[in-house]
Amino acid sequence: MNLSWRTNAACRGLDPEIFYPVSDEDAEAAKEVCNRCPVQGPCLEHALGLREKEGVWGGCTERERRRIIRQRRRTA
Ligand code: SF4
Repeated sequence: MNLSWRTNAACRGLDPEIFYPVSDEDAEAAKEVCNRCPVQGPCLEHALGLREKEGVWGGCTERERRRIIRQRRRTA
């Protein structure tokens, strides 16, 4: 698994707690960081591939990632 994209992560050094909001409504702070992150795409694919259950990855909450997986299954 190539994780070299992590070296360019905009969240490096930030408080990880903001990426683990208690609800989707509290995910805005994390999403703002993700939306200016140069590795948003690889990060999201990493989380989708691992079926990551917790946190905001690639600008998406767990619920949003599940939606993406469902959409991809439908169009596959
Ligand atoms: S997309 Fe978000 S969670 Fe992923 S590396 Fe970038 S800032 Fe971190």
